[in-house]
Amino acid sequence: MSVPTTMRAAVVEEFGPRVTVKEIDLPQPGPFQALVKLKASGICHTDLHAAHGDWPVKPAPPFVPGHEGVGEIVELGPGEHPVKVGDIVGNAWLWSACGACEFCRTGRETYCDEAEYGGYTVNGSFGEYMLVDTRYAPLIPEGADPVEVAPILCAGVTVYKALKVTETKPSQFVVISGVGGLGHLAVQYARAMGMRVIAVDIADEKLDLAQRVGAEYTVNAREKDPAAAVQEYTEGGSHGVLITAVHPQAFGQALEMVRKNGTVVFVGLPPGEFSVPIFESVLRGVTLRGSMVGTRQDMAEALGFYARGEVTPHVTACGLDEVNDVFARMEENKIEGRMSIKY
Ligand code: NAD
Ligand code: ZN
Ligand code: ZN
Repeated sequence: MSVPTTMRAAVVEEFGPRVTVKEIDLPQPGPFQALVKLKASGICHTDLHAAHGDWPVKPAPPFVPGHEGVGEIVELGPGEHPVKVGDIVGNAWLWSACGACEFCRTGRETYCDEAEYGGYTVNGSFGEYMLVDTRYAPLIPEGADPVEVAPILCAGVTVYKALKVTETKPSQFVVISGVGGLGHLAVQYARAMGMRVIAVDIADEKLDLAQRVGAEYTVNAREKDPAAAVQEYTEGGSHGVLITAVHPQAFGQALEMVRKNGTVVFVGLPPGEFSVPIFESVLRGVTLRGSMVGTRQDMAEALGFYARGEVTPHVTACGLDEVNDVFARMEENKIEGRMSIKY
């Protein structure tokens, strides 16, 4: 395949909720890297946080967001690779890690200090081509529809790992708070893992989707107190609570939803803070944890659920030129499931 020297990409030129679609130079694959021609890329709320510069550790504009990219390897950099030209691979938030530190050596590579993040510290998948590190790029299951499988690469693996971190057992309750790109997949993974799912959001359309994909009880947090509703339905609180919501209020509510000795896992990353009641947390023996994406092994497992048909992203395809419009609708919580760029 002949490779051009420039490509179209959506670039964050300065912090704000906008990208500029323009021609930029094609990157050259270095050692352990491959050049990938994209077929699709999901649009994660993290890409919007990145464009806004929402977090304490910021990316450096100009940069290309996107970490749910799926495409074909068209060129390999120098050295040995576990993949070949023609393979279909993805990029991911965990773009690479050092492989040698305490965290890498003990199966916790997502917490490596040297990690690079797709679409954040290295350019991502909102463009016609991207680079991947072939030691970290997930292989996409054969025959997968690129637009449909893309959200598994961040949303899917993140919630699958976070559900493990809740330590919820089969037949126990788990609350999924926030039923967006991550949450609608969390409902499905939780069901596939044998959990009883309660979904909480602030929009009825999101809760309808949650019900269609397997939630047995839903609560609109705009209409009633979600903690009281969960406590009543579960007769004492949910064993696990997974927060993907993009509002700090949902984080405070989680502590009131959880059962004694239960576990709350934070995944959503809205800027802001909330307070933790010391007395109740101690007396009820609550565990509070954060969780960031997943390891390469979590990714392989998360893709396996998709390949077996146990989890199916609810996706709508869009064009690269529509990213600003998608960001605007995302800010208003108007997106159902995930938007996925089709190249
Ligand atoms: P999204 O915009 O698709 O979904 C967010 C959902 O939260 C929407 O359905 C919205 O209606 C809901 N919501 C907003 N306020 C709420 C409230 N007060 N209570 C309940 N629900 C509420 O976003 P997404 O792509 O699913 O990402 C969600 C969050 O997770 C973002 O902050 C993103 O950066 C973060 N994220 C974290 C990781 C990680 O590794 N920890 C990975 C990916 C994304
Ligand atoms: Zn993401
Ligand atoms: Zn490391």
